[in-house]
Amino acid sequence: MPSDARYTREQDLTNAQREEIEDALAADHPCDDRSCGIAVAHSAGFLLAASRLLLGATEAYELSDVLERHAISIDPASWDTDGWADYHAQHGVKCLECGCFTYGDEGWTPDTCGDCRAILQSA
Ligand SMILES: [Zn+2]
Ligand SMILES: [Zn+2]
Repeated sequence: MPSDARYTREQDLTNAQREEIEDALAADHPCDDRSCGIAVAHSAGFLLAASRLLLGATEAYELSDVLERHAISIDPASWDTDGWADYHAQHGVKCLECGCFTYGDEGWTPDTCGDCRAILQSA
């Protein structure tokens, strides 16, 4: 996929920008729920994917402000291009009871749904 200069990619962010986005994500969505895609994408370092998820879910004033100030425009395809889709596919376990995803990481696979507490089938 050719990269589109109108959009900012995860790897285009400077360290200072990453810090500001991380702070804004933490301020607008203080959450470390393993069944929350926003929190998991944030903690796994997919800041633009986390930003897009948060902006799609709610008003995020701090985050909107930071993105606007740095003229960061998130590619609607960044879900796929910046690695989050792979992480989601690799570590997300879908609950057959409620349909939510709970995320593991390199060393851990969840055995109960973070949302409804049902036993996850693939555990
Ligand atoms: Zn959350
Ligand atoms: Zn569930």
